[in-house]
Amino acid sequence: MPLVPMRQILDEAAKGGYGVGAFNVNNMEQIQAIMEAANETNSPVIIQASRGALKYSRMIYLKKLMEAAVTEFPRIPVAMHLDHGNSLDTLKQAIDLGFTSVMMDGSLAEDGKTPNSYEQNVEITKAAVDMAHPLGITVEGELGCLGGIEDGHGAGLSDEEVADHLTDPEQAEDFVAKTGLDALAVAIGTSHGAYKSGRKDPKTGEVLPPKLAMDRIHEIHKRMPNCHMVMHGSSSVPQELVELINKYGGEMPGTFGISLEQIQDGITHGVRKINVDTDSRLAMTGAVRKVFAETPDKFDPRDWLKPAREAAKQVYLKRMEAFGQAGHANDYEPMSLEDMKKVYNS
Ligand SMILES: [Zn+2]
Repeated sequence: MPLVPMRQILDEAAKGGYGVGAFNVNNMEQIQAIMEAANETNSPVIIQASRGALKYSRMIYLKKLMEAAVTEFPRIPVAMHLDHGNSLDTLKQAIDLGFTSVMMDGSLAEDGKTPNSYEQNVEITKAAVDMAHPLGITVEGELGCLGGIEDGHGAGLSDEEVADHLTDPEQAEDFVAKTGLDALAVAIGTSHGAYKSGRKDPKTGEVLPPKLAMDRIHEIHKRMPNCHMVMHGSSSVPQELVELINKYGGEMPGTFGISLEQIQDGITHGVRKINVDTDSRLAMTGAVRKVFAETPDKFDPRDWLKPAREAAKQVYLKRMEAFGQAGHANDYEPMSLEDMKKVYNS
């Protein structure tokens, strides 16, 4: 099965009332771990790469690895998605590489740091849709700004500023109508990375978990029941993974994630794509640290890459079950980009 348009995966998820994990990759082990987990749970899946990942993998390697993935597991629907595209040029690069879906993050300027005005966001996102849909390619846009910085991308807003940049449900309705996008990334107070909160208890100074504006998701879903929403920065940052890292020499204090309950609440209110990157990073790093600490005589990279791949796979398996995508890989006939072109043209 060739890569399928992400739009179909999201449409089917909406029909089935479940969410689909979108997992970031940089290398072979991560792709293999995702595919093994998808195969074992019979899950449709979204694999995504950031600009940083494209650079790291020198693009052509990523393309060939994805081809290998769909060849090895032909019955699993897989979409390949560009995470946080910053310009039409970057989008075009990804499409030329064979991606079936792109994110145009018009919430920020091309530098990936400065917040754009609403009008600028509408303009660039609409231009992305005009470029991608005639090719059958899915487009994700973002309204509002997320906290945290990933791969150098992100406004690096303070907690107060993040609160000022949450997605406005009324504006979201206008944004979707004006741009015609397929999926809307919402800012509800999540951040990228493992350190999700700068919130401190004013009395004790203790770092607190992030406050999420789930009501924004509920309101957007009420206004647009057919809009596919995307939650970014939605790693759960399991404390046992952080503890494993710290146990074997790591130093990661004060980490927080998004609870699976909050994500599941989102899924019952129109969230169809859940971005998870940090959790697999934590799992892999913990596994590698453990091997290094316990068996310092080992020097074959396979001795630590294999446990790292296995640890990442365990994360993916859990997320696929929790988001509800497990068991749905064969619910539908996968569409080609050609099929999707006809849908957009009609
Ligand atoms: Zn993101």
